[in-house]
Amino acid sequence: MRLILLGPPGAGKGTQAARLVEKHAIVQLSTGDMLRAAVAAGTPVGLKAKAVMDAGGLVSDEIVIGIIRDRIAQADAAKGFILDGFPRTVAQAEALESLLDGENLKLNAVIELKVDQSALVQRIVKRAQEAKAAGQPVRKDDDPEIFKTRLEAYNRDTAAVTPFYAARGQLSAVDGMQPIAEVAAGIDAILAR
Ligand code: ADP
Repeated sequence: MRLILLGPPGAGKGTQAARLVEKHAIVQLSTGDMLRAAVAAGTPVGLKAKAVMDAGGLVSDEIVIGIIRDRIAQADAAKGFILDGFPRTVAQAEALESLLDGENLKLNAVIELKVDQSALVQRIVKRAQEAKAAGQPVRKDDDPEIFKTRLEAYNRDTAAVTPFYAARGQLSAVDGMQPIAEVAAGIDAILAR
């Protein structure tokens, strides 16, 4: 199974992706996680990406497309994958399309988590508080001001990815404001079609 989860930062993509990975024995390819790992390891990609990520901006298409190209080619991705946080621009969506076409691979679904953006800042504040209470590191970009920059980047560059897939008849949507279990049920119903 190969699927894409779309939606603004804080929509719940990561939560749903983690569950789908268990259920379908596929790998989660989160460009955010991969970039944070590159930053932590101090690789050349990480060094380039760090400042942009901390400020809530988007890392260059060239970098993230390269990361995804390499990752999809690895053996564990052959059984299927779920993309979370990629594609974030139309250029990334086009690059992915030609990558998959070249391998004769099809996407099973592209699912948009639809959320009310005014509720997202609260969600992110809660996520930061919970991480802190659990003794986990708080992401630098989970700060309310930086989060607003991330939402702006989403609305400016990423919102156009949804119509890209709608135009190809590949897009489904789930109400991401519902409780986690109901969002999960909505996704499962789409995947069962
Ligand atoms: P979110 O919680 O917003 O879904 P992620 O963990 O996916 O955040 O990403 C964190 C940061 O990593 C983004 O704000 C951006 O700087 C960078 N990033 C992740 N994926 C991409 C991408 N596909 N294109 C550009 N930048 C990306």
